[in-house]
Amino acid sequence: MSIPEIKERMDKLIKELNQHNYSYYVLAQPVISDLEFDKKLEELSELEKQHPEFLDADSPTQKVGGDITKVFKTVKHKYPMLSLGNTYNEQDLKDFDERIRKAIGDDFEYVCELKFDGLSISLTYQDGKLLRAVTRGDGTKGDDVTKNVKTIRTIPRSLKGSGFVPEFEIRGEVFMHRPAFEKLNRERIENDEIPFANPRNFASGTLKMQDSAEVAKRPLDCFMYFLYTDKKLFNSHWESLTAVKNWGFHVCEHNVLCKNIEEVFEFIRLWQNKRFELSYDIDGIVIKVNSYAQQNELGFTAKSPRWAIAYKYKAQEVETVLEKVTYQVGRTGAVTPVANLKPVQLAGTTVKRATLHNANEIIRLDLHEKDTVLVEKGGEIIPKIIAVNAEKRKPGALKIIYPEICPECGSNLIRQEGEAVFYCPNDEGCPPQIVGKIQHFISRKAMNIEGLGSETIESFYRHGFLEHISDLYILHEKSDQLKQLDRFGERSINNMLEGIERSKQTPFEKVLFGLGIRYVGETVAKKIAAHFKNIDSIINASFEELTSVDEIGDRIAQSLLVYFKEPRHLEQIEKLRSHGLQFESEDIEIELKSNKLSDKTFIISGVFEKYSREELKEIIEINGGKILSSISSKLNYLVAGDNMGPAKLEKANKLGVPIISDEELLAMIL
Ligand code: AMP
Ligand code: ZN
Repeated sequence: MSIPEIKERMDKLIKELNQHNYSYYVLAQPVISDLEFDKKLEELSELEKQHPEFLDADSPTQKVGGDITKVFKTVKHKYPMLSLGNTYNEQDLKDFDERIRKAIGDDFEYVCELKFDGLSISLTYQDGKLLRAVTRGDGTKGDDVTKNVKTIRTIPRSLKGSGFVPEFEIRGEVFMHRPAFEKLNRERIENDEIPFANPRNFASGTLKMQDSAEVAKRPLDCFMYFLYTDKKLFNSHWESLTAVKNWGFHVCEHNVLCKNIEEVFEFIRLWQNKRFELSYDIDGIVIKVNSYAQQNELGFTAKSPRWAIAYKYKAQEVETVLEKVTYQVGRTGAVTPVANLKPVQLAGTTVKRATLHNANEIIRLDLHEKDTVLVEKGGEIIPKIIAVNAEKRKPGALKIIYPEICPECGSNLIRQEGEAVFYCPNDEGCPPQIVGKIQHFISRKAMNIEGLGSETIESFYRHGFLEHISDLYILHEKSDQLKQLDRFGERSINNMLEGIERSKQTPFEKVLFGLGIRYVGETVAKKIAAHFKNIDSIINASFEELTSVDEIGDRIAQSLLVYFKEPRHLEQIEKLRSHGLQFESEDIEIELKSNKLSDKTFIISGVFEKYSREELKEIIEINGGKILSSISSKLNYLVAGDNMGPAKLEKANKLGVPIISDEELLAMIL
């Protein structure tokens, strides 16, 4: 490479790596594997060594990575949260051991721990009580997520035992167990929400949620692995781990003390395969010099401690043959390609299928019929194809072409601008969509109709008894015909009809969720129902009124508008209403704390440091105030936080509505 080419290459690497860091830390949606990332980083740092003149302050080698999310309070770390040096091979570990022995002699021990694949958290305790929890952020400052962390059951709010100092910091890894992840992800898919790729993303997405009550519903766990005190309490890391366990912290039971690097290798080899038996994901092993005195002697580089290193396991990969690509049409019409593979053993399971996500993925892989593909199982439950072995491609093999028409009903597929997924627009006539929508409507989290299951819906649809959700409520008129179908006895038909009748009492928010509006999952439906109180207000709501509701963004609002513009949807709603379904929230009497805000009206907008919008709303309501859904001259106060939409601000200014802060609001009820 010529000098300008080298410079160009370095700039390119910096740009790419920074983008990947952003995807990883901020979006929690990595696009390349850790191994690929590390390879690029390695290449860059090698070039920087040879050409220090091109070293750039913006280079990812100069910082730990990460960024700070705006909605949480930023807190500076007392002790920076560094990264760990890491490697994928034994030789590097031998070199690491060699360097240590050169510096401190042969008399030392290692602690080996599993490298949990979650996100690191720093906890501060004061007088035995949890004071603060902060994410790693960019290493020097992170997000204050104390409220959310307090919902994690394995993190003690008050300590047990004795021997701790008045103030200390402890670090660990927050993660989600795989069974919980799988269950919650299934629910997301049912709710038409985008599933998380792996438990780590789910855990990090959860910790950054605004609504702590929602966080509490998602079981997180946390293993602790570093104790920081100003005053020396222990002589070694191992001692500190034992002590913090007695204070009530969760410490992983698989940690071991090793006398030398050989024992470390044994531990690494043991967990190479055994890791698949754990209920959580690990991506390697962390090796730390045990003695604190020796750790001090070894010190730090700018990025990481010299006394610790991470050994990372390579993601398991295997080659197999693509048998065919099939296309699944979901309830919303999304058409998902699935690779059907020649069955192969991988990471302890037999793999037969891999996800292809969407049309772009097929293009990215340049997939051909009967291709030999490399399949990887990383943190994801569903394996994915990482590459095609083009050398093994049969001559004349045809390219896989994503269909232009729906494989189920033949309609032309459409794709919204900026979206990767193709949809079949024929929601009225495409069988899997029709059946899927009714199945969703009766599901447990929606109408929860007893005596009626997914297969029955399919069978009723095939026999012409059901086409729309409202048809459920006239099934009783056809009970004699239903009894003619095999498999349905009189008892089960009656059971089902009773279940359908009872479902008329199902609360509005569940009915709304049951309609299956795109992006309106369970939580969103609840929020909208609570805010607008009845279906007519939702149908008539403007884009601005919709987006003024907590957690309702542009995408959801748009989807609601599109849905309610459609006459046949309104017709269904009318029919359901005439059958007696609930389209209004029952008014829950609020117990007032004071009348200080009575006759006053408010709108809350933007994000606040200390409170969620829901909390502020509650504060207003229990003091007698009223929340309006849109800015008008009737509005008394606009409570504004950060990042409020400019249109709202302008409107409020135009109408002369006083704009107040959350603090000013609180002052009103003092
Ligand atoms: P890396 O992100 O690859 O630089 O690795 C460093 C990260 O590994 C730390 O920031 C921790 O979040 C994580 N980690 C997981 N398990 C451990 C452990 N047992 N000890 C220290 N760090 C760990
Ligand atoms: Zn179709």
